[in-house]
Amino acid sequence: MTEIYKLTRGKAPLLISIPHLGIHIQNELRETYTDAALALADTDWHLDRLYDFAHELGATVLSANVSRYVIDLNRPSSDESLYPGQLTTSLCPEQTFRGEAVYRDGHIPSTDEKIWRVKAHWQPYHDCLAEELRRLRGENPHVLLWDAHSIASVLPRLFDGKLPDLNIGTQDGRTAAECVLRAATSGAARSGYTWVADGRFKGGFITRHYGAPQEGIHAIQLEMSQSTYMEEVAPFRLISHRARMVKQTLKTMVGSALDAMNTL
Ligand SMILES: [Zn+2]
Repeated sequence: MTEIYKLTRGKAPLLISIPHLGIHIQNELRETYTDAALALADTDWHLDRLYDFAHELGATVLSANVSRYVIDLNRPSSDESLYPGQLTTSLCPEQTFRGEAVYRDGHIPSTDEKIWRVKAHWQPYHDCLAEELRRLRGENPHVLLWDAHSIASVLPRLFDGKLPDLNIGTQDGRTAAECVLRAATSGAARSGYTWVADGRFKGGFITRHYGAPQEGIHAIQLEMSQSTYMEEVAPFRLISHRARMVKQTLKTMVGSALDAMNTL
């Protein structure tokens, strides 16, 4: 069986979480999914490659192997909406971002199946994330949790027009100290990419749940437009020269936020 997640431990006060990197759907489940779902269009493609500078920074990196179409690790296990009143996807999404059915007729997971998926996939990822934050926080007064995401740049069901290139989310400044947030946003502002802080994406469950600046955990979500580094249609290939460029900006943003914690 494929491992649920991949963990690489480091010593720096930095944890990079990539909860939507997974493309695995177990064999016994695959026949319940539509062909549209099996194309896995809503995966946060290639982020492991964009963040491969993490080891130079001594970061701990936790990434999911299981697809978000099995379970979305950036939603609360209770499945309450992250954006009440707005269309958003759920713990076990039934539609893709483009509105296609995820499951074949009659195969939408039952409540028991969802409970099983929480236990088998959601809980282990979050147990690991919490444990690694505890370990790093035990060794450092402040820890940066960087929740890394990417999404297609045009999705009319979810937002108007084209999404800014870099979307920083901190629950309107509540999940990280101001200087840490300022360091990340100034990295974005100097980059030449379009960016916004706490716009359409304010941070999902991971940012909101673990971000506790008064306790030394500073959480920032970065939702990137996939147009900055890849082809946005299947087979979702990386565009190397774009990826190289945006990676420099990611490095600056993460590195600056990390340095800013030294001033706290
Ligand atoms: Zn994501």
